[in-house]
Amino acid sequence: MNDSVRAFDLIVLGGGSGGLAVAERAAAYGVKVAVIEPASLGGTCVNLGCVPKKVMWYAANFAHARHEAEGWGFAPADASVDFAALVAGRNRYVDNIRQFWDGYAERLGITVLRGRGVLTSPTTVAVEDTTYTAPHIVLSTGGHPFVPPVPGAALGITSDGFFDLTELPRRVAVIGGGYIGVELAGVLKALGSEVTLLDLLDTIIAPFDGMLREVATENLAALGVTMHLPFKVQALTQSEDGKFLTGADGQTLGPFDQIIWAVGRAPNTRDIGLEAAGVTVERNGIIPTDAYQNTNVPSVFAIGDITGRAPLTPVAIAAGRQLAERLFNGKPAAKLDYHDIPTVVFAHPPIGTVGMTEEAARAEYGDAAITIYETRFTPMRYALSSTGFKTAMKLVCLGKHQRVIGVHLIGDGVDEMLQGFAVAVKAGLTKADFDATVAIHPTASEELVTLKTPRD
Ligand SMILES: Cc1cc2nc3c(=O)[nH]c(=O)nc-3n(C[C@H](O)[C@H](O)[C@H](O)COP(=O)(O)OP(=O)(O)OC[C@H]3O[C@@H](n4cnc5c(N)ncnc54)[C@H](O)[C@@H]3O)c2cc1C
Repeated sequence: MNDSVRAFDLIVLGGGSGGLAVAERAAAYGVKVAVIEPASLGGTCVNLGCVPKKVMWYAANFAHARHEAEGWGFAPADASVDFAALVAGRNRYVDNIRQFWDGYAERLGITVLRGRGVLTSPTTVAVEDTTYTAPHIVLSTGGHPFVPPVPGAALGITSDGFFDLTELPRRVAVIGGGYIGVELAGVLKALGSEVTLLDLLDTIIAPFDGMLREVATENLAALGVTMHLPFKVQALTQSEDGKFLTGADGQTLGPFDQIIWAVGRAPNTRDIGLEAAGVTVERNGIIPTDAYQNTNVPSVFAIGDITGRAPLTPVAIAAGRQLAERLFNGKPAAKLDYHDIPTVVFAHPPIGTVGMTEEAARAEYGDAAITIYETRFTPMRYALSSTGFKTAMKLVCLGKHQRVIGVHLIGDGVDEMLQGFAVAVKAGLTKADFDATVAIHPTASEELVTLKTPRD
């Protein structure tokens, strides 16, 4: 390593959702910022997450719509997809976003340093043989798909590998019924794959409200996804016929053309010099932070997935912006409120949730304090179709004023519907406020302001 040292006010490790957000806001306040990034700017969300995933979700929606349209008088259409063309189009779209970032960061005055950053002290970072220094260092190195060390694990791909596919696999197993597993299973099934979904637990989307888990499972079954719940994968094997999964109970599933691991993500915090800077890290790689994104080292901050809190793009962005406000805009109390974060699973149909689940609310406040309003129905969208997904909605209300502390939705359109209701939950509105709002008719969302009778 040579002696060249370059000084910045802020160095950010990782040019993903959180890193770019803190850098952009800091640069707006005239701060001299460097972002270190070994791969494409934009991070997981742009390159291997939300964006390419949502393109595939739209494609799956078109596949469903073509099928459903027959009931509405449209001639039967060939619903098969030119997968390679879809992937090429998706990649072009992602490339455009990447190119936007490449020029944009520099135009804002942000220095982009290409390479992996490694902390060498609480205020210095090395990128290859150059050392950079700053009084503020933000860690936002994101995560990568976790693959457990079972025999034959490498026969499977991950969500990263899913985005490399140029051919639609005919027979697929998705290991993991979390949000990524459910999303990939839905997309592949809609586009024409035979899909098997399995999970260690006896349920999919485990942390979500029970109603959502139940209806999501019914909808996946209606789609034709085969589920094995619970199924503990013990080994992956390959024969001439394809790939196989062996479970802890001795059961073998297969053959499959692709097996996709979707069992969670691990933080990119190994080998980034945390020891050299004295930054505390948990055994699972999560960096503990307080409410202000402070680590245990005063000059080092952490945001995004590596903090183990709500691993979502808007969360990483909001945490980054608040941190910049606090450090560089004279707002010492600025911090992200991690309560009532809305989130959507882009399943078919989508799932949206904000606030407390019924189970969590009952555990926290006791049964007597909780009132539940719930409805399940087949929406008008399927009035003339031979098949149709169920919609279900639940309000979790607290206390005698029935403050709405949870909204849980599954059905067509809930991905767009939820944002407005998240405002209502965040604002602390009550069931009476919901009831006082005039419905929009005919919609599915009007149900949320016309729910009359509490559920037993
Ligand atoms: C398949 C999938 C679908 C998803 N869908 C959604 C969705 O629909 N909605 C949503 O909100 N979230 C979604 N997410 C989650 C979302 O992508 C992450 O929460 C978000 O990207 C986290 O931002 P981050 O800044 O913490 O990390 P990232 O965006 O992952 O950025 C981290 C960056 O750090 C870089 N890096 C790593 N090590 C170093 C180093 N040593 N030095 C410098 N740079 C380094 C990486 O190359 C990367 O670019 C999805 C994720 C996946 C995998």
